[in-house]
Amino acid sequence: MTLRIFDTATRTLREFSPLRPGHVSIYLCGATPQTQPHIGHVRSGVAFDIVRRWFIAKGYDVAFVRNVTDIDDKILTKAAEHNRPWWEWVATYEREFTWAYNQLGVLPPSVEPRATGHMTQMVDYMQRLLDAGFAYTAEGSVYFDVAAWVQAAGSDYGHLSGNRVTEMEQGETDQHGKHNSLDFALWKAAKPGEPSWPTPWGPGRPGWHLECSAMATWYLGGAFDIHGGGLDLQFPHHENEIAQSHAAGDDFAQYWMHNHWVTMAGEKMSKSLGNVLSVPAILELVRPVELRYYLGSAHYRSVLEYSEAALLEAAQGYRRIEAFLEKIGEVPIGTYTEAFEAALDDDFSVPRALAEIHNTVRLGNTALADGDLDTARTHGANLRAMTSILGIDPQSPTWATQTTNNDTAHHALDTLVQAELNRRATARAEKNWALADEVRDRLAEAGIVVTDTPDGPHWSLA
Ligand SMILES: [Zn+2]
Repeated sequence: MTLRIFDTATRTLREFSPLRPGHVSIYLCGATPQTQPHIGHVRSGVAFDIVRRWFIAKGYDVAFVRNVTDIDDKILTKAAEHNRPWWEWVATYEREFTWAYNQLGVLPPSVEPRATGHMTQMVDYMQRLLDAGFAYTAEGSVYFDVAAWVQAAGSDYGHLSGNRVTEMEQGETDQHGKHNSLDFALWKAAKPGEPSWPTPWGPGRPGWHLECSAMATWYLGGAFDIHGGGLDLQFPHHENEIAQSHAAGDDFAQYWMHNHWVTMAGEKMSKSLGNVLSVPAILELVRPVELRYYLGSAHYRSVLEYSEAALLEAAQGYRRIEAFLEKIGEVPIGTYTEAFEAALDDDFSVPRALAEIHNTVRLGNTALADGDLDTARTHGANLRAMTSILGIDPQSPTWATQTTNNDTAHHALDTLVQAELNRRATARAEKNWALADEVRDRLAEAGIVVTDTPDGPHWSLA
């Protein structure tokens, strides 16, 4: 079946056709680590992890690049406020982001390039823009000449974000030497006390947009398949990436995908909300796999309006899948259904895929109730195939090794239930059916369902 992607640049659903058959190249704008990651940050990581896993499931070889912006005004300001070296500050939070991605089962990128490791590529890129006549140097800085680019043949400035050029603001405070306030900084001249790197035009540090054009092109080539990021990056970041790359003569991304943000009471996640909704704080409420399930429960292009009630409800939804698989015991990974495939092929509709997953759970439970364990296990195997593509397979070793308070309680309960089940087995061996039934009824009264399988009895909470 064909996969259709909503391309932000054309605002249409487009059939996906890779540049190179069998291969998909994806560049995702990653974090600027200067604070603890909150769920708004990791939503993007999870959304594009599902995109990547679906391509892998469809047989593609996926190159997945997610960068780290490790030099930036905010990093320098925060580090200075706390009287710490900037490189220590950013390294500390980069580890926190990695921890959060790992907790949520996000596959490590094929490569995770840092801006500070790609100064050579950025200098090279600026030289190309200067040669093409779309950049100029001023007072030790290098600027992109928006006015020159807007007038050039093939220019599409403003096309991605749908902004009128006359109404655009780059949001840059430092206007030193700019010909026009619309121009944006490729390179910022060194300031006293700030880190700098040498260039042919003097020491300085990169502007934000340049790094992504330089790194995407370095790893994926002048043309690649998909560029992704949060909706808030559309302008100016992605608009300027396109301008740089097209002005340098590269074809750049063929599809643009943007995930929407997380809000609380309608407000986009701000710094203060970031503390409340930091990944460690949310993981006090639910297990990592449940948070991942929750983040996928809204379509990636829709707002995810956070509430604790919605989070806990999502966790319960996940536990219904888990409970069914616990009842039937370990099963191999089967195949995904047609409805599941249709859902993900339709611009990665995870909500529809989850509906199909719950439909399969219902079919499995019905088969179990009818005593048809074979059919139940087939549904279970298919469930594993589908949940593993979303990264939430309850029987995956990723989640088996995670311990939480919940798991401690589960372990304690398991010890007690196993003792009861042993008592039942002994009673049955002695043909004491009355006692065997009594044990089973007592467990049922306590809300514990026992299912007999070829590997022995399994229990689960009703
Ligand atoms: Zn970027």
